[in-house]
Amino acid sequence: MIVIAVRSHIFDATPPYPVNVVITRYDLSRSELAELLEGEPNYRIEQVWEGLHRQYRDPADLTNVPKSLRSAIEELLPAALTPVREAASDNGSTVKQLWQLGDGYLLESVLMHYRDRDRSTVCVSSQAGCAMACTFCATGQIGFDRHLTTGEIVEQVVRASQHSGNKRVSNVVFMGMGEPLANFDNVWSAVERIHGDLGIGARKITISTVGVIPGIEQLSRKDLPVSLAVSLHSANNKVRDRIAPVNRTYPLRKLAEALQAYRRAKNRRISLEWAMMAGINDTDDAARELAEFARPLNAHVNLIPLNPTPGYTNPGSDTDSINWFQEILESFGVNATVRSNRGTDIDAACGQLRAEHRVKLSKRPKV
Ligand code: SAH
Repeated sequence: MIVIAVRSHIFDATPPYPVNVVITRYDLSRSELAELLEGEPNYRIEQVWEGLHRQYRDPADLTNVPKSLRSAIEELLPAALTPVREAASDNGSTVKQLWQLGDGYLLESVLMHYRDRDRSTVCVSSQAGCAMACTFCATGQIGFDRHLTTGEIVEQVVRASQHSGNKRVSNVVFMGMGEPLANFDNVWSAVERIHGDLGIGARKITISTVGVIPGIEQLSRKDLPVSLAVSLHSANNKVRDRIAPVNRTYPLRKLAEALQAYRRAKNRRISLEWAMMAGINDTDDAARELAEFARPLNAHVNLIPLNPTPGYTNPGSDTDSINWFQEILESFGVNATVRSNRGTDIDAACGQLRAEHRVKLSKRPKV
């Protein structure tokens, strides 16, 4: 058991709290909060808990509790995320936020509103950077910094909800920076918090993976019915080895077996993500291979227009090719949806705002 000192308070902390990372506002469970605020009556703990988790208030805005307690909470439980930059596009319906962590690392989250709905979706990061090295992905091009803690993940949802105003954040997708199944424990305890404490139902939470099989196996043993998306991009080992190198460790046949087992255990439909790259995965052969992979899984395919990234020169497929590819898949009996390309003008592809930020920083003259 690791003991972590939080200012004057001592916690017994088993993982998921990593060593050297300060405990932040959304790391604590309700009972841990009660322990931290020992001596306060139960109704006060409830007011603080509700204020932070249901009303998404900053401690300073918990006006129903005494000022001294507000200051104590602010001091004992610092925010995990400091805003660095914000960029809006699509007439304000896509908002990308760049955050700095306590130890200086950067991460991103994206808030997406839908015109005809009073609900919004937030896309959260599970790691600062990513070790999976997918060639077309801006985060993969940056490399891995560290796992995020539970509190750092949950706070992204809270911050999005604060920003979202009268549109309630009702969906969470783990499609920001990082590979969620490579940070399983922290991600899962964030899922439990988002479901149980923030009140966003597990079915409205999507975990997106590049295909980390041990994580898929762990997921099939969990009871909360989260949604699973697999970033497939190619159903041909030779091609996938190149664009998503994790395929060399977890090749397609093994991935298909793990997904079948997941489906048997959970009885949930899986979606397959497919970012469309001209000449790489938008051909007749690619469609046939994808159909052969998707059909036995009864999976739904999402076709995503490729967002250009600094380190990948192959162009994305044009609209006609994407529509043609969708028709071919349908003719093979596979359901496919073309996703809208959100926020291309603000670099909304995974990790790009941060990549852009880094370029700007490195261009700064040395003083
Ligand atoms: N590591 C996880 C989650 C993060 S990536 C995963 O791989 O699923 C989130 C989604 O964005 C994935 O489907 C990923 O393949 C996709 N993506 C990454 N870079 C992209 C790009 N340049 N254009 C379009 N989609 C991209």
